[in-house]
Amino acid sequence: MSDYIPFNKPFLTGKETSYIEDAVKSGKISGNGKYTERCQNYFQNRYHFNRCLLTTSCTDALEMAAILINTEPGDEVIVPSFTFVSSANPFILRGAKIVFADSRPDQPCIDEDRLEKLITVKTKAIVPVHYAGVACDMDKILHLARKYNLFVIEDAAQSIDSFYNDRPLGTLGDLSAFSFHETKNIISGEGGMLVINNKTLMDRAEIIWEKGTNRSAFFKGEVDKYGWVDIGSSFLPSEIIAAFLWAQLESLNSIQTMRKLIWRNYYDLLSDPFFNQRISLPTLPEFATNNAHMFYVKCKNESERAALIAHLKARGIHAVFHYQSLHRSPYFSSQHDNRRLEFADLYSNTLVRLPFFNDLSEDSVAWVVESIRDYYQNI
Ligand SMILES: *Cc1c(COP(=O)(O)O)cnc(C)c1O
Repeated sequence: MSDYIPFNKPFLTGKETSYIEDAVKSGKISGNGKYTERCQNYFQNRYHFNRCLLTTSCTDALEMAAILINTEPGDEVIVPSFTFVSSANPFILRGAKIVFADSRPDQPCIDEDRLEKLITVKTKAIVPVHYAGVACDMDKILHLARKYNLFVIEDAAQSIDSFYNDRPLGTLGDLSAFSFHETKNIISGEGGMLVINNKTLMDRAEIIWEKGTNRSAFFKGEVDKYGWVDIGSSFLPSEIIAAFLWAQLESLNSIQTMRKLIWRNYYDLLSDPFFNQRISLPTLPEFATNNAHMFYVKCKNESERAALIAHLKARGIHAVFHYQSLHRSPYFSSQHDNRRLEFADLYSNTLVRLPFFNDLSEDSVAWVVESIRDYYQNI
């Protein structure tokens, strides 16, 4: 018997509390201070994002995005069905209609080849979600966006340090949103970031970020007083959060090395021929990199998945399924047209995520894999 293996465990580098203490002692703990700037600059320099603004969550970053592109009633926004509610909800809040798209047969990401027929004169934006940090085929999506004059907003919540060919995810859309929720690679408890690549949206982004005021421009000396100039909300995190995030960013390379090792370890052990006919492993399109955000396998069907999860649970291993198709959700199902989204449902019903966190030991990975083997040997 082995110890309980949780699904996720927040990883601390050890510097978080000292940076928080520094922020607290400096007397500046509201947002947009030293640590916020450090984090934003780090991302801008490392990944060549045009402009980064820390937010209190990825959900908030997407809400900012929805405001920035002037989403309004009558607009349609194309979102994959197999994703988190926050990919869609921000546009609903602005009165838009969501048109859900199916996933690729080989990949939970949106099926780029079946997107064009979803575009109408009302379509305002496409929201590709890089599931598991694996890139969508962005050239195809950007081509459609240019052809029909649409915004592209990357839901890059899971995509830190991942690439489409040699281009960092988050640099491809007009806007992109990252998450630092405790389940992601780099964390701050709750936290997120909006990336503004489209230069025409840059100035307004800061205003929306600062509750609809031009406070940012005022502090940069660009205007001599600040006031209410647009709509906005309280989207910026405190310096306490940014200080925590800074500690994580300093260790980004080593965190990624640890995660990639764990991922490789799972993949190698599960590549055993015994598993070939029983489960399927994640695949990587030739244009995508793997940032080791998660490790999942696919079962043959929903009941087999439920039994596998229960079997692992009995052994103290916490494996979980993931998104349930949003077009079938209690909130949305009555608004969905009748299109079948076959692959979104397939991933909803068969995908299972295995325990994955930075200090998951090699022994634990082996134990999880042996427990999966044991399940299939006994059915
Ligand atoms: C985690 C996640 C979000 C939400 O991130 P928060 O920071 O918790 O708001 C949105 N979209 C996807 C794809 C996610 O994985």
